[in-house]
This record gives sequence, C-alpha cells and structure tokens, in this order.
Amino acid sequence: MSKIQKTMILDGRKTAEKIRGALAEKIRKHGKKPKLRVILVGEDAASLAYVTRKEKACAEVGIEYECLRFPKEVQEEDILRAIAETNDDRNVHGLIVQLPLPPHIDKRNVVAAINEMKDVDGFTQWNAGKCFLGKTDGLLPCTPKGVMRLLSEYGIGVTGKDVTVIGYGDIVGKPLCLMLSSAGATVTACHSKTRDLKSHTQNADIVVSAAGVANLLTADMVHPWSVVIDVGINRVDGKLRGDADFEAISRIADISPVPGGVGPMTVAMLLENTYEAFLRLESEA
Ligand code: NAD
Repeated sequence: MSKIQKTMILDGRKTAEKIRGALAEKIRKHGKKPKLRVILVGEDAASLAYVTRKEKACAEVGIEYECLRFPKEVQEEDILRAIAETNDDRNVHGLIVQLPLPPHIDKRNVVAAINEMKDVDGFTQWNAGKCFLGKTDGLLPCTPKGVMRLLSEYGIGVTGKDVTVIGYGDIVGKPLCLMLSSAGATVTACHSKTRDLKSHTQNADIVVSAAGVANLLTADMVHPWSVVIDVGINRVDGKLRGDADFEAISRIADISPVPGGVGPMTVAMLLENTYEAFLRLESEA
C-alpha cells in the first residue's frame, strides 16, 4: 500500500524552543552570564511588544537584560551618548537599538555608532560587509539567519536549489539573498518593481516572502511540494498574518506559519548572537 505524503508545517516556535534549551545549557556550563542592552525610544506599541518578548527570551536562557528607555522627544546626541557608554561598558556584550526611531533621529548615525562586536542585530556596515563576503566571523542579521536556521533544522538543504526571495529590504530580503547564494543556492530577488512575480515563484524549490503584503503569495504561484517561508507580518482584521495564503498553500507545499514561524526564530538568533558576541569579547579581554 502506498503511503500518502503529507505537507509539513515548519514550526518556528518549537524549533526556537529547542535552540533556547541548547543555549541555556551552554550559558549554564560557562558560568558567566552574557548581557544584552536594548535602547528603546518612545511608546510604539509594536516595539514595546518586541522588547518584552526579547526580555522574556533572555530570562529563559540566562542572558542578563537591560532596557534603557527614552521619551520620543529625546535628541539624537543623547542616544549616541548612551551607545558610546555601552560600547565602553565591558559588562555589556550585546546592544540593540529598537527600530523604528522617531523621524528627527537619523537611523544611519545611530546604527553606525554601535560597536560592531556588540552589534547583535547585525545592522552595522562592518557586519553587513561580513555577510556580503560570506564570512562567519561577523554577526549576521537575526531574521535572515533565522530563516536559514529554520530550513536547516528541518533538513532542507539549499545548495543547488532555485530559491526565490520576495522583498529586497536591508533587514531581511537583501542579506537573505546573500546568505542563500553563499550557501550555494541559485537566488532570484524579487521586489515591488518585479513585473511578473508568479513567473519567478512557480518553479522555485523554495520561496521566501519578506514583502509585508498580505495575501501576496497564493497557492497558484507555488509549485506543489515546494517550501514556502513566510517572513511577512501584516495585521488583517486585527489578526496577525503573513504574506502567504497559509490555508491554501499548506495543502500543497511545506510552509512556515505566521505567527509561530520566522518570528520566534528571529528572537532565538538574537540570543545566539548575544552569546557569540559575549564569547568573542571574553576571548579578547
Ligand atoms: P522593507 O520595507 O525594507 O522591504 C520590503 C520589500 O518588499 C521591498 O524590497 C519592496 O520592494 C518589496 N515589496 C513590497 N511590495 C511588494 C510587492 N507587491 N511585490 C513584490 N515585492 C514587494 O521591509 P522589511 O523590513 O524587509 O520587512 C519585510 C516584512 O518582513 C515586513 O512585513 C516585516 O514586518 C517583516 N519582518 C518580519 C520579521 C520577523 O521576525 N518575522 C523581522 C523583520 C521583518
């Protein structure tokens, strides 16, 4: 009797839990705790929710967490001073400035001020350069790193595969295209100027959507038995949704859900980056 093959849900929540468990064990064995500092400006509800999630995840693995909060009227120089102090503080190993920032603060100046060794978001030019060169001694941005890790944890190799990435943003799509290429995939980068999106997705072995457009990727656009990784975060009728039509695609292809897919992987990679930064800074001390 032939067995009916079923599609798979790539469960980021469970995978991240496993990663956190392994990391907690490494930190416990090491004895000294890494420390992450977050700079948060203003009262943006989504930013508050994200930092709360990061704080909880740090507590779970034994990373010390500290949040420096500033009112939305804060001047850029005050943020730059807090960054400089953190750069010099030997007891802090990772630093993130939660984005977005108010419009009067130049994000580029802020990111550029972060010591690359503590840049656990992987946003500085130094770490972006490491990613560009395919080097492993930099800190990679958490969301694309989380996508790569989710694939590898499910045993899905990318070498020689045709991978289409929808979205070419600085934080997700662009670095992900580089990481996939470095890992041996043949990558097609699509964006808002792409003329016929379906022609690039329908024959791909793997499609990653990081555009932030609800229902952008529908079942007719993907190949049966392909893999879809949904990075998008959209609010539809008060509910969190990805870029993909999850219900329809999950019947024909393997897919990561939203919520519960790439989101928890992103936080897990932030924890791993903080531990990596801690080990490197300790070895240099
Ligand atoms: P971005 O605005 O920097 O980039 C969006 C990209 O999508 C651009 O290249 C744009 O050209 C492309 N795009 C927009 N509309 C398109 C369309 N109709 N067809 C094809 N391409 C289109 O955004 P980002 O920061 O890269 O984030 C992308 C999405 O990923 C957002 O929904 C964001 O919330 C989500 N995100 C999720 C996580 C996570 O942890 N799950 C982390 C970061 C970002």
